[in-house]
Amino acid sequence: MSAIPQSDHERRKQISVRGIAQVENVTNVKKTFNRHLHYTLVKDRNVATPRDYFFALAHTVRDHLVSRWIRTQQHYYENDPKRVYYLSLEYYMGRTLSNTMLNIGIQGACDEAMYQLGLDIEDLEDIEEDAGLGNGGLGRLAACFLDSMATLGLAAYGYGIRYEYGIFAQKIKNGDQVEEPDDWLRFGNPWEKARPEYMLPVNFYGRVECTGERAKWVDTQIVFAMPYDSPIPGFRNNVVNTMRLWSAKSPNSFNLRFFNDGDYIQAVCDRNLAENISRVLYPNDNFFEGKELRLKQEYFMVAATLQDIIRRFKSSKFGSRDPVRTSFETFPEKVSIQLNDTHPALAIPELMRILVDIEGLTWDKAWEISCKTCAYTNHTVLPEALERWPVHLLERILPRHLQIIFEINARHLEEVTKRFPGDIDRLRRMSLVEEEGEKRINMAHLAIVGAHAVNGVAKIHSDILKKDIFKDFYEMNPEKFQNKTNGITPRRWLALCNPGLADAIVDRIGESWLTHLDELKKLSSFINDRGFRRTIQTVKQENKMKLASYILKEYGITINTASMFDIQVKRIHEYKRQLLNCLHFITMYNRIKRNPSAPFVPRTVMIGGKAAPGYYMAKQIIRLICAVARVINNDPVVGDKLKIVYLENYRVTLAEKVIPAADLSQQISTAGTEASGTGNMKFMLNGALTCGTLDGANIEMREEMGPENIFIFGMTVEEVEELKRKGYNAWDYYNKNSELKQCIDQINSGFFNPHNPDQFKDVANVLLNHDRFYLLADYEDYIKCQERASDMYTNTEEWTKMAINNIASSGKFSSDRTISEYAREIWGVEPSWEKLPAPHEPKEEENSTEGKKNDKK
Ligand SMILES: *Cc1c(COP(=O)(O)O)cnc(C)c1O
Repeated sequence: MSAIPQSDHERRKQISVRGIAQVENVTNVKKTFNRHLHYTLVKDRNVATPRDYFFALAHTVRDHLVSRWIRTQQHYYENDPKRVYYLSLEYYMGRTLSNTMLNIGIQGACDEAMYQLGLDIEDLEDIEEDAGLGNGGLGRLAACFLDSMATLGLAAYGYGIRYEYGIFAQKIKNGDQVEEPDDWLRFGNPWEKARPEYMLPVNFYGRVECTGERAKWVDTQIVFAMPYDSPIPGFRNNVVNTMRLWSAKSPNSFNLRFFNDGDYIQAVCDRNLAENISRVLYPNDNFFEGKELRLKQEYFMVAATLQDIIRRFKSSKFGSRDPVRTSFETFPEKVSIQLNDTHPALAIPELMRILVDIEGLTWDKAWEISCKTCAYTNHTVLPEALERWPVHLLERILPRHLQIIFEINARHLEEVTKRFPGDIDRLRRMSLVEEEGEKRINMAHLAIVGAHAVNGVAKIHSDILKKDIFKDFYEMNPEKFQNKTNGITPRRWLALCNPGLADAIVDRIGESWLTHLDELKKLSSFINDRGFRRTIQTVKQENKMKLASYILKEYGITINTASMFDIQVKRIHEYKRQLLNCLHFITMYNRIKRNPSAPFVPRTVMIGGKAAPGYYMAKQIIRLICAVARVINNDPVVGDKLKIVYLENYRVTLAEKVIPAADLSQQISTAGTEASGTGNMKFMLNGALTCGTLDGANIEMREEMGPENIFIFGMTVEEVEELKRKGYNAWDYYNKNSELKQCIDQINSGFFNPHNPDQFKDVANVLLNHDRFYLLADYEDYIKCQERASDMYTNTEEWTKMAINNIASSGKFSSDRTISEYAREIWGVEPSWEKLPAPHEPKEEENSTEGKKNDKK
């Protein structure tokens, strides 16, 4: 580990959001740290490794959560508020240590304590593995929501799967993506607590016996679900909620038949088979792959979670003495279940199965309860992303659920017939069962029919749901359809990742924005304050220099920190149009080559993101970007005017390093394809300007900041629709624009890879003949828009004003706002800024939140 840079420590000490390091707290942290090093890690300082120090610190910080965690759960038990259950197959949490210290206000104390022990806290933080149990936006949204639900004092639980392997680590080797398994639990996870005493059985396969009234699912194979709990601290309110992730565990009886055959060793070895269910996260973003193991994962999570929910409902302090309660009449008043996409949509037939087959309710009563309890969030309109499970798979693995789905469908189609008599085509369109080709269950249709609320994740996306893909359902039940524009937590995405900016803001307007992000509006009055602009510029420059040294260290590339940092980081997908970005920097390169002495606003273009391992075109896009980068970066004519950097292994932790250093954010999906985007919001909050299309939340960002503060280009959704109707011919654009033609010809002819000139022919072919995302139609406007951005960048003061306007108008995009809307408009619970009382032990941090209290709403 490097020597402690005194200046870094001194600088961090000045940052007030990190919490004041009181002597008493520092002494206590040191004591606890040393105790953990000794008793938990079983090391002394002669043999301790940096990782031992990280674990000792993590355990020290964890200790501060324990009393709050227990007391929060006691509080819920005593007061029995309505519980909110967030069901998600993904939680993209990233690191926990620094976030926990921030939320409980002990960053300063821990930093000082480590310093006094001769350790640099940033080195220790860097040892923590990301919890990468997500692919991209959907999983990160779930993580931001947990933070906001705890901060808003909701009695909320996140339920999911404890994948042994999260999203793969991406290596770029010779310009090619190579995947490595993410063995994130290798050194142990200090934040989780296994709860073997709450292990639950989950059934698969078998058959349905119909004896009299009740159906019985018999001859099933059992897999156990072992819960692991992680604490979710709210921001300085003494609330600690629970994220409960399930791990698959073989029952002791598993494959006992082998044992009877005498093959004991085989029987024990085969226990692994059942435990494969929670082995690995499927690495697809916005893509449905109908694999049996994935279906098992989805049901495994849902079945374990629903048993847990019902156990908690039945064991409620009030419920246990209340016969009405146990009759489930009050279930929807006490329980809300939010489905994060259709991935957990089997919760609907599973709840019906429990209520009808096990609890003995009538179908009608059970259906009423189930609908009132469940709500569904849609995250995409891309047809390849919608889950449609083959009937034969469900029949084999979940035979009773298939029957229940058929019954739901029969009754649903009866309703449709009543409302729209004689409309046969509508019946076909609205059926949960798709009959064309292989019979499949449309999970979105199931989720809509079985939920009392259906929401999209940005205004435009929610409108498209109503007008387009779920039009029939909207006409039948308009009252179900809502919008909940996504948000991000300002704690991680500003206070934690950009402490310099956070502190500059605190200096001017105080700390209230941390929980009331709208307060950032107050920064508008400093736009004409030269001193403030200077501070904003300095912070950005420092962040850029920090990223530049990271890029030099990691990739050996020197970048010009005076150049514009132009960044596109997100999963690689054709609809996100990284290729359009690529066409732009090829165009810039060609212009430099054509006229090397012409003025040019220097740029460093950075692109990062993982391609799904089976997504050929996404991997080609990475190859092309790297090939073009090699040519541009090694051309002496280009010099430091233009550099292209591929950011390897983009993940939450890298996002935290990259976003604070961005000048320009690329959000360039084809209008109508990106449901919301949340990356766009992170950049805005960190004072980057956006170059983007009128898609997803970009539209609402523009509304908030005013069109003069954002670089918008390209077709609107309506114009895309119009083009689709007229018929898109890429060749028209190719033939009309000589610069575009040159780019495509270079890609096609092997200009960027003379050793393998045919390598990118297929890319050119897609662009010209099979492009579903109309890149060439937006090319010219994109180039012009980028020119406007370049021009503006030369005017540092105007640029800075725009950046401040961006920050000042990002209040809407706090996930606290999003969650408040879910709470009031879907879950029927009221957010509260009230604090729970601070625990009396440990007493170290009691005064760390400095009297700023309870602006009770
Ligand atoms: C926010 C985030 C995303 C989502 O980015 P989009 O640009 O909205 O697709 C994906 N990955 C990581 C690591 C993130 O932090």
